[in-house]
Amino acid sequence: MFWDTHMHCSFSGDCDSSPQSMIEAAIAKGLTGICFTDHMDYDYPPNPDHPIVFTFDLHEYDRTMRELQSRYADRLPVLYGVELGLQPHLAQKHRQILQNHSFDFVIGSSHIVDGKDPYYASYYEGRTEQAAYERYFLSIHENIRAFQDFDVYGHIDYVVRYGPNKNTFYSYRKYADIIDEILKLLIELGKGIEVNTAGFKYGLGHPNPCEDILKRYHELGGEILTLGADAHKPEQIAYDFDRLPQLLTACGFSYYTVFKNRKAEFISLKKGGF
Ligand SMILES: [Zn+2]
Ligand SMILES: [Zn+2]
Repeated sequence: MFWDTHMHCSFSGDCDSSPQSMIEAAIAKGLTGICFTDHMDYDYPPNPDHPIVFTFDLHEYDRTMRELQSRYADRLPVLYGVELGLQPHLAQKHRQILQNHSFDFVIGSSHIVDGKDPYYASYYEGRTEQAAYERYFLSIHENIRAFQDFDVYGHIDYVVRYGPNKNTFYSYRKYADIIDEILKLLIELGKGIEVNTAGFKYGLGHPNPCEDILKRYHELGGEILTLGADAHKPEQIAYDFDRLPQLLTACGFSYYTVFKNRKAEFISLKKGGF
């Protein structure tokens, strides 16, 4: 079986699953290892109808994760990192965090664009769905130019989970110019992307990003690909991972990547774990 290296626990503002419950579920599923990547989203726009705090105490996180690592040492490798909600003005703040905490893995993700969360309808107001998606992709490029100290860019086409028509009218080709710019920049910087199976959970029929983007990343020379189900509940760990070997092989990949102490290790897709 595989490593699932994108999951949340109660340190994330939108998750109330204990880290122990996630670890126990991963052991029950026979995973090779896991990495927690809790949400750190500074300047998340306040929403009075749905108040969530998307930041947490990193020292408490370090203490808890280290204790769990030793408690489960003989049963499951437990790594921990962070999913940073990137916005261009947060670059310096994120650099500071990474100077003070030694994570295994850092996912850079776009959750907020121009002060709005594409999860909510207000993000799409006053523009076409296509314009809203295009703006999402452009903002990824802006985020990467502002900040590069991440290992992979998270769920690159995440916006299509939430648009008015989701991915019905969406394709890589429609946004190929800007997506190619993102992929080329990531490859030039030695950064990876992730395949996030929450897209299946959201009923898209595809992971995030979709197969055509994974194929394109590979075609352009990209090699660093991490696997994550973005689980917020124990039962979501490694969601639909059984589809990945065939799907990723068809996109040209033979290996996937696990980051330990911010260093990439490559694992054969045939072998699963190591
Ligand atoms: Zn995310
Ligand atoms: Zn996540």
